[in-house]
Amino acid sequence: MAKADEDIIYDQLIKLGISVKGTKAKGKLKSDTESIQYLGGRVDSEIYYLEEATNLSQSELNKYICRAKNDFMLFNAINKRHPDLIKPNLLRRIDRLIHAIAKQEAILLQKYRIQNPNGNRINIEKLFDGNNYYKKLLNCNMSQLVKEILADSTYTTVGKNRRDIFITETGKKYHRKDCPYCKRKILTVSSMKLVRNLKLEPCKCIKDMDERTKKEDSYRTIFVDESLHNVNWNLVDFGSKVSSFSYIICKGNLTSETEITEDNIIAIDVEYTPEQYRIERVTKSAIAATMLMLAFDYGFKGHIKIFTDNQSTMKSWMTENKNKRLSELFESVTVEYIPREDNTKADQLGRTQMCLKLPMPVYKQIGDIITEFPKLKQDNERLKERELEDFLDREREYSQKLAHENNYLRNMSMISIIKERIKYLFQKEHLPVMAVDELKTAKNIQLHVE
Ligand SMILES: [Zn+2]
Repeated sequence: MAKADEDIIYDQLIKLGISVKGTKAKGKLKSDTESIQYLGGRVDSEIYYLEEATNLSQSELNKYICRAKNDFMLFNAINKRHPDLIKPNLLRRIDRLIHAIAKQEAILLQKYRIQNPNGNRINIEKLFDGNNYYKKLLNCNMSQLVKEILADSTYTTVGKNRRDIFITETGKKYHRKDCPYCKRKILTVSSMKLVRNLKLEPCKCIKDMDERTKKEDSYRTIFVDESLHNVNWNLVDFGSKVSSFSYIICKGNLTSETEITEDNIIAIDVEYTPEQYRIERVTKSAIAATMLMLAFDYGFKGHIKIFTDNQSTMKSWMTENKNKRLSELFESVTVEYIPREDNTKADQLGRTQMCLKLPMPVYKQIGDIITEFPKLKQDNERLKERELEDFLDREREYSQKLAHENNYLRNMSMISIIKERIKYLFQKEHLPVMAVDELKTAKNIQLHVE
């Protein structure tokens, strides 16, 4: 039989108490002795209010629950610092207090269960498995916490036909809003977390829709990636630092980047923004730019799904006025979080384009350095030999020179990579991607010279 809510809450509260640190606090023996005396009195009254008082309003009850939890934490801190101050009698009363809190919170949780579809089926124990959500119980009660845990954190969606998922009161499946198989049932909006907690399966309506919309023209899937660049070229026009975002816009409702093909790509590019520090802003610009393009360059008005690996932007993108208004142009806009390792294509695109899109003055600078390269390399070799011979008496002079040459070489190794990439681009039509090995080689040259 499944554990009762009251027992689960009790267990989590005990975990919360154990997590208190006893060492950090000021706690001198004298003040702890005093605290324990006062604590005993307070605990008795808290037990009274939580166990006996039947005419308390919910807000008064909450107040006592809150006080009781704080006293419980104080008790645990003192218990860690000076365990000999704790008498068995107090220990028993504290335990009774925790049971009283758990009982009150279980009543609230029961209300939550009744008021929410499938609420009676939520597996509370599983929600706390392998995480430290219990720490939040200090500042809120179990029903608030359950609500918070079950709220979805993997996507946000807005629009006339938001892409939410729905559940019925007792069913074993989850659905689209317009499920043809649920005509007489009441559907309520849910979250993937609740769906997983209840172990619900996708209804045929979900599978049909995914299949149907995979190639459908009323859907666009966008992969965006962003980066703040520290550009070595200190040009006045270009700025020493710029950020960029890359995007791949595909036709259809894709579920991952593995579904990107040459046939379904509509647009693919990199753009620059002047933002220097806040990565979230770059991602928001990327979302705005792709919506703008779809609405005005392509006259698209259907459903958009944007994948990003920036979790905070996924949560907050529509708080920006521009994004909110742009999203109103479409049937729906859903921004979904994917882990970085599943967003590699947009990421690689950004890196490669970063090199290919250097401004003309930089190319000229590259050219100058290329012509000097063999000489520089020779000089560098010679300098190194001499450095070994005259190291003791001429150390300072040469190390300075070396630093200077080394700087040139560092630029040079970057440049040769860029040059190779450009050549490659003209030979082949698809976009090149800078390999990690080449970057390592570039670094090795640098190290070797040093
Ligand atoms: Zn359905």
